[in-house]
Amino acid sequence: MNTPDPLQSADSVKSTQVYILTSTQFRLSSYTHAERENLDTLESSSELIITIISSIAQEESKNLSANVSWGFTKRFSQGVVHMPTTYFLGYDRDEEDNIVINEAEAEVVRRIFRELLEGKGATLIAKGLMEDGILTARGNPTWTNDSVLKLLRNERYTGNAICQKTVTLDFLSHKRTKNNNHKPQYLVRNHHPAIISEETYNDVQKELARRYLMQHDPDLKYATQYSGKAPFSNMLFCGDCGRPVTRRRLTSKRNRAYFHFTAWQCRVASQRSKEDIECHSKYVWEEALEDGFVRLLYEMKGEIPKIIEDANKAIEIVSLTEEEVSRLKELEEKIEVVADQISELASRSSGRSNPVYEANLRHLVYEQEILMMEHESLSKNKDESLYLQRHLDELIEILDDLESDDFNAEIFKKIVERGTLYEDYRVEFMFKCGIMRNTSAARRTEEEKQAEIAMRDKTRLFRHKYLLEKASV
Ligand SMILES: [Zn+2]
Repeated sequence: MNTPDPLQSADSVKSTQVYILTSTQFRLSSYTHAERENLDTLESSSELIITIISSIAQEESKNLSANVSWGFTKRFSQGVVHMPTTYFLGYDRDEEDNIVINEAEAEVVRRIFRELLEGKGATLIAKGLMEDGILTARGNPTWTNDSVLKLLRNERYTGNAICQKTVTLDFLSHKRTKNNNHKPQYLVRNHHPAIISEETYNDVQKELARRYLMQHDPDLKYATQYSGKAPFSNMLFCGDCGRPVTRRRLTSKRNRAYFHFTAWQCRVASQRSKEDIECHSKYVWEEALEDGFVRLLYEMKGEIPKIIEDANKAIEIVSLTEEEVSRLKELEEKIEVVADQISELASRSSGRSNPVYEANLRHLVYEQEILMMEHESLSKNKDESLYLQRHLDELIEILDDLESDDFNAEIFKKIVERGTLYEDYRVEFMFKCGIMRNTSAARRTEEEKQAEIAMRDKTRLFRHKYLLEKASV
């Protein structure tokens, strides 16, 4: 029989989640709800943690020798995480059972990540893989949208392993129950060799989340398919009703002859929405949209200092203050200390049920959770500011190298987060570095175009010293 904890009300701590961190490197993850759902599909790597805790806390384990339980703790603290590689594309095991990269397979993994960032959708990527006769990890020639997405969401390609969930333990009943997955999870870093950099991985998650939002509006009424074939797909919204702007092929008449052209128009205004709302926004020519974007790029190239200033304002909002930076560091140290204490406590357990021991453990776990929650919110802001900074650097580099007068879909996708189409052909672009800029998608005459292009020559030569200065810091 267990004695209820005299120090705390039993009700408030009926089940407590247990997180044990390695004493080496770790990072808290800050996942959105959707991302967490994806994590759910990953294999549980927490069997070891469960084993440790169970072996300590469960009464039937009291016969286990202290050696065994210490062994588990030690193995875990060295970052041993269960990771089968048989059906894991990109990884094998060597004779000594170390996880090693399978270069041929890793190339496929890199290709999938690269193609997504180049703007392809999962379906299109799957199609390409099948066309090239590439097999899945199970040797299957069929790739699906799902199998591509699952691969793209697998954090283990960064070399990290997720020590996740399922460890909910009711200390009073000694029953292990399923974690509802609403508590923070964390990673063991550098657990095995990386195939994908953390940066690329994070970009892909961000891109997947962005496409997800594009496809599912809050009321889930007007989902669109992400094809990635047209650069403006899922990037533009109607400034009037807020709905997605989609591509149309239209026919018109000039000098008594019919001709076709491509245009973009609000889904509702083009009457392709099942929703019972009204919108009368006009269509814009794709040509004019592209033209407007290139013109905007040259305008921006001419005012780089202002762009840096604006982006820095956006970065400042999410950046951590000096106090917050030191608090983050402090939290990391504290969490590590508590994690060590938990490990230490676990290794000293006799395996017998002991209320004092359980109260201590529960207290430490509780303390760790509080620290982790604060850590999570701070590191989320830190990640966001790094994201903006990275995209600012990229934008400046692109503007510096800008030479062509043609629209470049790759550049567009790299730097633009989304756009809004307003009345009178005004388009507002939100850039990935956090700044907003306007342009016009009104059609121009050939003379107007040529006159403006002639003015670009001076701007074209302009090189900003920003990146050089940055490199020398
Ligand atoms: Zn509209």
